[in-house]
Amino acid sequence: MLKEKTVIVTGGAKGIGRAMALKFAENGANIVLNYRSSIPDDLISEIEDKGVKCVAYQADVSNFEQALSLVETAVSNFKTIDVLVNNAGITKDTLLMRMNENDFDSVLEVNLKSVFNMVKHTSKVMLKQKSGSIINMSSVVGVAGNIGQANYAASKAGIIGFTKTAARELASRGITCNAIAPGFIQTAMTDVLSDKVKESVLDGIPLKRFGKPEEVAELAVFLAKNKYITGQVINIDGGMVM
Ligand code: NAP
Repeated sequence: MLKEKTVIVTGGAKGIGRAMALKFAENGANIVLNYRSSIPDDLISEIEDKGVKCVAYQADVSNFEQALSLVETAVSNFKTIDVLVNNAGITKDTLLMRMNENDFDSVLEVNLKSVFNMVKHTSKVMLKQKSGSIINMSSVVGVAGNIGQANYAASKAGIIGFTKTAARELASRGITCNAIAPGFIQTAMTDVLSDKVKESVLDGIPLKRFGKPEEVAELAVFLAKNKYITGQVINIDGGMVM
């Protein structure tokens, strides 16, 4: 069902984005792999070994023009854009008392403005096609809040409102838009947390383990294939928030 479809993954060089690119490739989709700073030497060949094409494109997706270039690159290489995964994200955690204006603005720009940029440009292509699937990476923190993450929580909650609105606006043209809200997934983003923080997070996870990037990728592929789920926020968190 995803064979020869085109999937854009933003922030696809590592962590959940990397796992998503590999999982969509396993399902036969061609990949447009966006990265910001660098890409591991063997990642493109690892993706293409699955029998698909992969185009890597460096862009800061929080920048409106660079996001447009990324979308144009996808169209010039593959003609259609069938799935957009807005995965790029950062954290700048600190208590509100210590959070400065730049900590707030930069997290909102990268996590939320990038979603607007990418959906704005990609939806034009999907509207013409009368099909497409948009998947936005939110977080359980956007649903429940978290100490030290006012900026991140605001960006991820913003993604939820944005997702529901885009789902309503784009539905009549056969385009679905959903958000994934992971709990604690083992990546570079969570590796930086202290053992003490990790232990206390683990205490609050009924399934008593952290999630794997591949598990999130499987959910993204499921959402991309399904044509009757839209406007939803799907938690994948071992039961952390229920
Ligand atoms: P990660 O390992 O830190 O990877 C994030 C990726 O985003 C990196 O490849 C990074 O590239 C890229 N990126 C950052 N800013 C960008 C920009 N302006 N333009 C393009 N790419 C950019 O994080 P992750 O854990 O895989 O997280 C992926 C997504 O899931 C994020 O949206 C995150 O908020 C969300 N999430 C993660 C967890 C978790 O537990 N890990 C939980 C909930 C939600 P550079 O390294 O080059 O900057």
